[in-house]
Amino acid sequence: FTTLYQAFAAQAERHPAKALFELPDGRGISYAETARTVHRIAARLVADGVVSGDRVAAQVEKSPEAIALYLATLQVGGVFLPLNTAYTGAEMDYFLGDARPRVLVCSPERRAEYTGDLTNDLTIETLGTDGDGTLLDSDASCDEAHEASADTPAAILYTSGTTGRSKGAVLTHGNLSSNCQALLSTWQFTENDRLIHALPIFHVHGLFVAANMVMAAGASMYYLPKFDTETILDLLPRATVLMGVPTFYTRLLRSDRLTTEACAAMRLFVSGSAPLLASDHEAFEARTGHAILERYGMTETGMNTTNPYGGPRKPGTVGKPLPGVAVRVVDPETGKPLPDGEIGSIEVHGPNVFTGYWQMPEKTAAEFRPDGFFITGDLGRIDEDSHLCIVGRGKDLVISGGYNIYPKEIETLLDAHPTVLESAVIGVPHPDFGETVVAVVVPAAGGKPEESELLASIADDLARFKHPRAVRVVDELPRNVMGKVQKAELRKQYGDLFT
Ligand code: ATP
Ligand code: MG
Repeated sequence: FTTLYQAFAAQAERHPAKALFELPDGRGISYAETARTVHRIAARLVADGVVSGDRVAAQVEKSPEAIALYLATLQVGGVFLPLNTAYTGAEMDYFLGDARPRVLVCSPERRAEYTGDLTNDLTIETLGTDGDGTLLDSDASCDEAHEASADTPAAILYTSGTTGRSKGAVLTHGNLSSNCQALLSTWQFTENDRLIHALPIFHVHGLFVAANMVMAAGASMYYLPKFDTETILDLLPRATVLMGVPTFYTRLLRSDRLTTEACAAMRLFVSGSAPLLASDHEAFEARTGHAILERYGMTETGMNTTNPYGGPRKPGTVGKPLPGVAVRVVDPETGKPLPDGEIGSIEVHGPNVFTGYWQMPEKTAAEFRPDGFFITGDLGRIDEDSHLCIVGRGKDLVISGGYNIYPKEIETLLDAHPTVLESAVIGVPHPDFGETVVAVVVPAAGGKPEESELLASIADDLARFKHPRAVRVVDELPRNVMGKVQKAELRKQYGDLFT
């Protein structure tokens, strides 16, 4: 298939009565019913003047109709632009001003926020979670599909904004389809799968990995508004696959109900979007018999690497490149490939890699090498089994007295201490060294981390310049909805410890 709309339409034709969505209230929504909604929305978008290449922005709560809106946008040749539901006021002004959509679909409750300037050349539609809203006002239907080629844009997805302002990544139909197909075959995903979908759908993980795979395979999903431990545990006996962010697994592990028996029907647990604690990986396997499969991807590229479906899944690694994807680790300055084992900049190439940032030609040019490799901004190394290990982001690298310090190395040692659940190591300004190391730690259940004891425990394994100069104990690390630790937040909080 060239487009995800085509993939979905083919499945709707093949088994119209099969449930695509299974909702928490027990209701199922079939492929045929979804197709009817898609075609109604398509007619509405065409009536609103959407033509090939026009952006259709959506800031809506998770609902089956929101997925139908995505498919309808692709059907009519539009470019889908999902936005985090948490964005408000000035943030929305930035995204709308930047992307200049033809149509904005928002939830009915927030319709009043959009007035004045914004509405000039923009049609605003609403979509609620009960099938309500103007988007579904009319019964008109359009089942004609725009002929799209693999290299035309299908979506603009904004990055999570972990390291700065979110950037709009322009993704083509070919980017989405090729990545979906690579994942389907690698994870042996079929129409018999029943996925637990508890992720948001404005992000690559929930939309372009989870939902795309289900629809392209003709499978079904338990479609949940958000993560809830008890609900997931209720569903495990009936499901086959869970795709989650690391915090899903941390929370599941807190429940006594997570057992081997509870997971007997499951065939695959996937983790991504942020690093999975090696201790969670091990604890999960001990409790359930399942080794969580960790993979690595990003908004700009979709998925790049994955631990094997068949072979051993190594905790603390993100595995090997997906079929068709090339990954290399290079010297950040020269761009020269480094020998295995050495830490450098992770670069990727393949049909999954985006065409560029929306209206940022200079930024785009700066992030690609002349040979077409994309500079991910992540640092890593290739281990002795050819698995990629991510050691953090380039922007989180600490440079103290001229020496490079990789926070991950220190975090791994701290995490291994019995009183520590997890940690985040940051660089903060220091008058002598430029930057110095601060460790922020979260206690393990019942643990009481002591600064002096912690520092003593890691001292032998770390060169002196890497020793944290301060340890702070907190109840939890600041995280966004995708479970990403907000280090910028921590740097702000502890930035003046030494100045
Ligand atoms: P921004 O680019 O705006 O700063 P972001 O990079 O967090 O935000 P995303 O595209 O959502 O936005 O996230 C991609 C990043 O998430 C990757 O570059 C990587 O740093 C991180 N990531 C994804 N999967 C993993 C993983 N399995 N282990 C470690 N990090 C991961
Ligand atoms: Mg990024």
